[in-house]
Amino acid sequence: MKEKEIDPVFSKKPIDIEKGKGVYLYDSEDNEYLDFGASYGVAAVGHSNDFILKAIEKQFKKLSFVHGSHPNSTREKLMNRLIEITPEKLNKVFLANSGTEAVEAAIKFSRASSGSSKIIAAKRGFHGRTMGSTSATWKPKYRKPFEPLVPGFNFVGYNDSEDLKETVDNDTACVLIEPIQGEGGIYPAEKEFLKTARDLCSDFGAFLVFDEIQTGLGRTGNIWSFEHYGIKPDALTSAKALGGGLPASALICGEEMSGAEHGGTYSGNPVVSASSKATLDYILKNELQRNAAEMGEIFINKLKNIDSDEIVDIRGRGLIVGVQVRHKSPPLLYQLAEKGVLALTSGINVMRFLPPLVVEEKHIEKAVEKIEEVV
Ligand SMILES: *Cc1c(COP(=O)(O)O)cnc(C)c1O
Repeated sequence: MKEKEIDPVFSKKPIDIEKGKGVYLYDSEDNEYLDFGASYGVAAVGHSNDFILKAIEKQFKKLSFVHGSHPNSTREKLMNRLIEITPEKLNKVFLANSGTEAVEAAIKFSRASSGSSKIIAAKRGFHGRTMGSTSATWKPKYRKPFEPLVPGFNFVGYNDSEDLKETVDNDTACVLIEPIQGEGGIYPAEKEFLKTARDLCSDFGAFLVFDEIQTGLGRTGNIWSFEHYGIKPDALTSAKALGGGLPASALICGEEMSGAEHGGTYSGNPVVSASSKATLDYILKNELQRNAAEMGEIFINKLKNIDSDEIVDIRGRGLIVGVQVRHKSPPLLYQLAEKGVLALTSGINVMRFLPPLVVEEKHIEKAVEKIEEVV
């Protein structure tokens, strides 16, 4: 696969990255970059975080791998921590290695447990690149080359409650929603939409699944972004930030959902579990969700003070921020990278900023100064 299709910015402007520390990345010539993309939110606790390193090292020395058929205390500690930070009824965890696998699990668990087959996702949504997740993903560029996809997927307009009412029925297994659409342009859900989804799922015996792979674990100012709405899902997916840099994901759900024979060899492997547990502990101990709320507010206010015709809209919550621009965003992002600030696209005319949750005001000041220069 051509990298061009994966990342419209850094495939055309390759910057080799050799080192990372905290919010900074360094190329082979030791040029320093402020990482305001955090590799799509993975580097939430910063790059090469010492606390995570210690946990990984300690676990690898003790036990590098054991299959999930053996109980393992490191895995159990991670699962318990995940259960502690989710609503009371969500007390089951399925661990995996990537976001898309958590979504696959959500799809399979929903079908197996509801006896229904229809999966409802949102237009503009993104859920991953394996066949089930791709079938729940909206953009043709992710879907077309792989058709025929998995049958039974339907799409509703994001924030379109009427559309939801017409689509959810007795054969619906789940409604799968990002509380803030990350890949689709940084669009936060309206409360009414999530509330409608909640009510319909309860009425029709379908599962409400929130995909918090990009928005979860503190990024929006709460541990989970759905907490801003006071609406609880039946299951949620987590990944990206979860592994502290190692590949980790989770589906957290209630008793009424089960995955039949679903599983995976690396599910809950001890080293990744140790890294994930340390990441959660680091976020909670340092209240990074609070820092995300505070820094996000400062960031958005400073962006709003930029006087430029290029900026059309500024959207987001906490440290997931989209700046919609008049022209295409990649050329602006190349320029920004040249000035030492790395960020991402989200759709073709949005600059997406997902700085590490450990970001400080001085980093935000510097990034905004550079953003102002390019717009
Ligand atoms: C990144 C992402 C995924 C897919 O995660 P991978 O680890 O790339 O498989 C799914 N859903 C959302 C909302 C994402 O942001």
